Amino acid sequence: MNEPIKVKNVTDVKIQQPDPQHHDNHYPPRSRIYVRAVEGTLNTFRRFYGGFFIVLFALLPWLTYDGHQAILLDIAAQRFTIFAVTLWPQDLTLLAWLFIVAAFALFFVTTFAGRVWCGFMCPQTTWTYIYIWLEEKIEGPRNKRIKLDERALDTDKILRKSAKHISWLLVALLTALVFVGYFTPIQQLFIDFFSFNTSTMVWGTVVFFTLCTYGNAGWMREIMCTHICPYARFQSAMFDKDTFTVSYDPNRGEGRGPRPRKTSREENRDKGLGDCIDCQLCVQVCPTGIDIRNGLQYECINCGACVDACNGVMDKMNYPKGLIRFTSEHQLAGGQTHILRPKLVGYAVVLLVMVVLLVLDFLERVPLDMDIIRDRNQLYRETNDGLIENVYTLKIMNMSQQPQRYHISVEGLPDVRYLGQADINIAAGEVYSLPVSLAVDPYNLQGAVTEFSFKVESEQAEPVIIEQNSKFLYR
Ligand code: SF4
Ligand code: SF4
Repeated sequence: MNEPIKVKNVTDVKIQQPDPQHHDNHYPPRSRIYVRAVEGTLNTFRRFYGGFFIVLFALLPWLTYDGHQAILLDIAAQRFTIFAVTLWPQDLTLLAWLFIVAAFALFFVTTFAGRVWCGFMCPQTTWTYIYIWLEEKIEGPRNKRIKLDERALDTDKILRKSAKHISWLLVALLTALVFVGYFTPIQQLFIDFFSFNTSTMVWGTVVFFTLCTYGNAGWMREIMCTHICPYARFQSAMFDKDTFTVSYDPNRGEGRGPRPRKTSREENRDKGLGDCIDCQLCVQVCPTGIDIRNGLQYECINCGACVDACNGVMDKMNYPKGLIRFTSEHQLAGGQTHILRPKLVGYAVVLLVMVVLLVLDFLERVPLDMDIIRDRNQLYRETNDGLIENVYTLKIMNMSQQPQRYHISVEGLPDVRYLGQADINIAAGEVYSLPVSLAVDPYNLQGAVTEFSFKVESEQAEPVIIEQNSKFLYR
């Protein structure tokens, strides 16, 4: 009962003292990534490829087609104009098909070649590279930038930093203006914006997208790709051992280490040295700051910058290129890459089917729509001459880009008397509200409800026709 409690002498246990600088911070601050510029085939390809898409992005909203902005996604008016086609909320299925096609295209490309979308086409990467290029031009190469950041504030530092942020903001502002120009007439937007005559709503939207671009490409950079973008998280589900990804060949590269330039490859091999000279260039050029020599990592965006950097080193060392290369896990292990594998073929088949369905849905699209609204106050009434009359309001929408003349008729009601306008003109994109009365002899009606249809036909060489069912009520 009164057994003494066993104690242990703990005087020599070392208690770790908190870091005086970060004693409240359990998450050490992220070290900044200073991306080193790199030259090489993949970088040149990305520059031209990215340049082409930036030019396309900047020019497209300025194009006109048939007197109107060729691409205008007018959200307020609920109409998307893309050259000769105008899409309305009624065309939502097309948009859904488009998203499904884009999703399966992404699955297919990711299974085949990993995150090449991220490395070569994603706007986040493209704009980040533009910002890094500006940074390099204004603050100098990587080493100079590191020293500049370590240096105390002086006039040169203030001038360089100010110039960099102003250039970033200008790029962000132009990006935001062009982007908003897809949703509002761009010529007017530029005139109004630079003459300070724009509405608060438009002004606020431009400022919002300017700050988003500046923040994403200037400050957040790889955080966006590694922590925020959901694609980084689920892409691994699409990878398999035959997916082409940027990989380091450890069989060739290890053991890594520096060596005199004049020693031959064979001599180095005898000393246990592989082809990696441990120069760290592949790490310094990586926009996400990872070391690809540690194996496949979810942060890798497959941009190939490390491939270019390492190929340059291999050239200088007179070693064969490709220590870091686009390859598959099977190939790295000395086997073959299986291109035609069930998963990839499956994605290709589904993608093809979706594309066909999208095209069919688009081809079957009719640029005319009608809503039939029955008079809810009175189901029917009897006219002085003994006919039964039903009243409707037809909402006819001209979904084309030209004014049209339409003819309205009724099918399925014997000897119907049509009271209302049979021919109407509707401007492009307008909805016409047409009140119509139909009167029928009760002896021709077979019951309380008779099914019939309204038919609307455009007066064109190739008429557009729609037919919609309705009900004629009696008793
Ligand atoms: S660039 Fe090539 S040689 Fe240099 S550290 Fe990276 S893998 Fe090794
Ligand atoms: S590891 Fe190479 S391919 Fe992957 S993000 Fe870094 S530089 Fe790009």
